[in-house]
Amino acid sequence: MKRMIQLLLSAFFFLSAASVAAAQARPLAGPDMPVIYERLLKKIDQIKIYDNHSHATFPDDMDMDAMASPPEESTVLRLRDSNPEFAAAAKALFGYPYADFSAEHAPWLIEKKKAWEKEGGTAYFDGILDKVGIETSLANRVALAPYLNPKRFRWVFFVDSFFYPFDNQKQSAKNGDMGVYIPIQEKVLARYMKQEGVSALPADLAGYEEFVRRTVADNQKRGGVAMKFEAAYFRSLEFSDPPRERAADIYARFRAGGVPTAQEYVVFQDYIFRVLLDQAGKLKLPVHFHSAVGIGDYFSLRQGNPLNLENVLRDPRYKQVNFVLIHGGYPYTQDMIWLTAAKNVYTDSSLMGYYVYPSELKNILKQWISLYPEKILFASDAFPFNDAVGAEETYWVAVRSARTAVAAALAELVSEGAFSEARALELAKLYLHDNAARLYGEMK
Ligand SMILES: [Zn+2]
Repeated sequence: MKRMIQLLLSAFFFLSAASVAAAQARPLAGPDMPVIYERLLKKIDQIKIYDNHSHATFPDDMDMDAMASPPEESTVLRLRDSNPEFAAAAKALFGYPYADFSAEHAPWLIEKKKAWEKEGGTAYFDGILDKVGIETSLANRVALAPYLNPKRFRWVFFVDSFFYPFDNQKQSAKNGDMGVYIPIQEKVLARYMKQEGVSALPADLAGYEEFVRRTVADNQKRGGVAMKFEAAYFRSLEFSDPPRERAADIYARFRAGGVPTAQEYVVFQDYIFRVLLDQAGKLKLPVHFHSAVGIGDYFSLRQGNPLNLENVLRDPRYKQVNFVLIHGGYPYTQDMIWLTAAKNVYTDSSLMGYYVYPSELKNILKQWISLYPEKILFASDAFPFNDAVGAEETYWVAVRSARTAVAAALAELVSEGAFSEARALELAKLYLHDNAARLYGEMK
């Protein structure tokens, strides 16, 4: 009897040990992984996407961005015209009959696109979203275009121009990139002043703050769903918290002329930044930050590192503000994801989703999904690179990359025993649609 009990006990321990082992995730995917991938991808292809960031536009539309590429900038391999994926995109979308965009071949596509642009109406870009399976796309633009249907495209407006009300000659002279960027900021500020019926800079800081707050509120009324900072292109993402008197003094001294020192300009900007965040909190308007490497030849990786924002993202004064770190903080994706541990911080996979190939995007998404799957959003960063390769083709490349990469990340995790296929599909839906739809109040 004693021996019998011993046998039963050892059988029990053996069985429970086996069941623990079965429930514990393994470091290697099994041979079933490719089959799981195919099954998941079929279902993931059906998920309608909510795209957190794009520049939906025709290439000759000056409202597409408050930025422009400096001439001769270095381009990553995947974004060069020679990438055959862009020809594949044009073929899938428009039946483009060539495998490249040579001078003899590209006009086939350019002429068609020009004709569609001339036709006007919203059907063209609605049709592009339908073809790639996007339900809603945020459009980061100076203004929403008449050819974008507001039912499908939501406007994200720029606010960096409020940082540059003074004489900017020293700012523009810093380097070739700033020489391109700063005049565009001045134009956007002039446009906002015209929009608000402000003919000259207000007499004091109180007046300027009121103008800033009113512009943001009016942009929200015009359909704006978020404000966007491209600050990483111009300055450090580390914002100090200067007293109001210092900003008021700088404003009084330079409102009507004179060139502020670099230090004075930064103090003023840090103060206006706080005004913008406060207003975002009051209006329940999410705040987007460019948080990755940037275009141009003088982008500072150190200044643009999203960890510089930690003091702001973790500041209890802004806990009612939802922040979105656009472009996943790439290449600091592993550090950045820990910022999304804060309840009001999100990130998206735009830009990096077409900088790297799907095999690498898979690795990044696998880590993000393993940590904070409710805080990660798909985004295309659809953008026109030239008259042939447009936002249309980049939508297609970004969507195909993300669908295949997230399917692969999840297939590995399922095959490793992390969770079930049903759970994997729920997680894919969070990333491709639900997290963003909830963030912008379009879903409970
Ligand atoms: Zn972008």
